[in-house]
Amino acid sequence: MYLILLGAPGAGKGTQAATLVKEFGLAHISTGDLFRENVAKGTELGLLAKQYMDRGALVPDDVTVRMLLERLARPDTAKGVMLDGFPRTIDQAEALAKALQPQGKKIDGVMYIKVPNEALITRLSGRLTCRTCGMVYHVKFSPPKVSGVCDKDGGELFTRPDDTVETAKKRLDVYFAQTSPLIEYYTTRGVLTEINGDQDVDAVGAELVKAVEAIG
Ligand code: ADP
Ligand code: ADP
Repeated sequence: MYLILLGAPGAGKGTQAATLVKEFGLAHISTGDLFRENVAKGTELGLLAKQYMDRGALVPDDVTVRMLLERLARPDTAKGVMLDGFPRTIDQAEALAKALQPQGKKIDGVMYIKVPNEALITRLSGRLTCRTCGMVYHVKFSPPKVSGVCDKDGGELFTRPDDTVETAKKRLDVYFAQTSPLIEYYTTRGVLTEINGDQDVDAVGAELVKAVEAIG
């Protein structure tokens, strides 16, 4: 099963991916996490990606697609994949479809998590991320048990440099210009399900589980 979580920055993709991969035994592939791992390790890819990420722009399609296809080739993807943050442009979606086709694979479902614009900045500017496992919290909506420490692995929680109000606004502009056309793209292809993301985390998760089960 190949699934895509689509939604604006702050819609809850990372939060919900954590639940869904457990429930359905899928590999969680977040291009944002992959880029951040490369930034942390100081790889050539990380140095390049950082220049775009820090100003809220998208990393170029050729670099992003190459990284994603390499990740998809790893054996843990055998049972299926939950893509989080990819594709973000029509060209990325086309490149993915083209890569899957010769393997007899296709995108089975796209879960579009819809959240009103005004909630997104509040979510992004309060987001805390674990430096070691990438798990996300929110200062108000889902705080960790101990301030500054990840519940799961004890890692340090930090505020991503692109989660300042100013860069978050820029990322939302980029989303509306370059990523939101994917809603129509996947609706036309009959694979998109809209999920109400403006509910508490558990309610959104329950709606998503039902939608994925409906795909079969
Ligand atoms: P969020 O969860 O807030 O939507 P991500 O962690 O998915 O953010 O992405 C962080 C940054 O990484 C993006 O702003 C962008 O610079 C880069 N990035 C992640 N995924 C992609 C992609 N598919 N194409 C281009 N750039 C990407
Ligand atoms: P995305 O991956 O789409 O950028 P995240 O899953 O990282 O989004 O969530 C963004 C922020 O919003 C995080 O701080 C997270 O704790 C919080 N959040 C996620 N889902 C909800 C929800 N349903 N209600 C309130 N806050 C949420």
